Amino acid sequence: MREFPRPRIVLSRCLELEACRYDGGIIRDDFVRRLLAHVEVIAVCPELELGLGVPRPPARVVREGETLRLLQPDAGRDLTSSMTDFAHHFLSSLPAVDGFLLKSRSPSCGWRDVKVYGSGNSAPARAPGFFGGAVLQRFPSHPVEDEGRLRSFRIREHFLTSIFTRADFRYVLADGSPRALVDFHSRNKYLFMAYHQTLLKAMGRLVAGQTRRSFADTVDQYQPLLHRLLERPPRVGSYINVLMHQMGYFSPHLSGAEKEFFLDALQQYRQGRVPLSVPLALIRAMVSRFDEPYLRTQTLFEPFPPDLVDIADSGKGRER
Ligand code: SF4
Repeated sequence: MREFPRPRIVLSRCLELEACRYDGGIIRDDFVRRLLAHVEVIAVCPELELGLGVPRPPARVVREGETLRLLQPDAGRDLTSSMTDFAHHFLSSLPAVDGFLLKSRSPSCGWRDVKVYGSGNSAPARAPGFFGGAVLQRFPSHPVEDEGRLRSFRIREHFLTSIFTRADFRYVLADGSPRALVDFHSRNKYLFMAYHQTLLKAMGRLVAGQTRRSFADTVDQYQPLLHRLLERPPRVGSYINVLMHQMGYFSPHLSGAEKEFFLDALQQYRQGRVPLSVPLALIRAMVSRFDEPYLRTQTLFEPFPPDLVDIADSGKGRER
């Protein structure tokens, strides 16, 4: 098994860490608990940081005319400025982080879909919470998710791939050698091909032209492309192209029946009847059987620790 980097993530403190919810509760979540074993956590409870204590009257996002405010109606408190100031100072003092995992729908931590209470009888609209919204503004290209959306297998897999790949790249930056960048790009080639072929090629040209510029110049250009590449999960068709490409390594050595079996698995994946792991496992078996060293190192087969794979899927939260 490959050695994985340790992503550094900002985590809402009430997710598995501390009973700091307004009602004294804590959110238990199996996935977050498993993830904790693999990541470095910067925990934050913005409401505790404001000195609000536990338990406390609940906060709400409230529309007042054209502006949104963060209020604690039962305590008669307006938290808007103090939360805005806290978020600014906290986020600007962070070290390099690989992503954010925030409590869903909280008026403070929620990054989308937070209920907005308006005056009168108009139906409540939705907006980011005050801390979650500040995260989006300051880190527009970082992976940001909540425990609710991560119940969707596809969203979870993309989030994990993004934070582990970004952490891996931080290690390249720390290493500071052109060789480390070549290795990184090379072992991620097929993963990146699935994500975005055009960006993969542009990144490949930067890596190949390293001798003409400094390492710092190269990574300054490479990093934004990497972040763009990881913005959206790959489409099914992109994965199929990559798998067909890999199949090309082995095709001359396979019988007609073996090829048919693989193509049938690919077709089932295209139709959504089996997960990606099924055709991927077939390719991995060929990698072992024919001892193909280049493919053996590809992160596509294992972009994050396998004990985080859980194909259970609530089907919720598929839309971004
Ligand atoms: S959602 Fe955020 S502010 Fe609310 S308890 Fe959790 S960490 Fe604290």
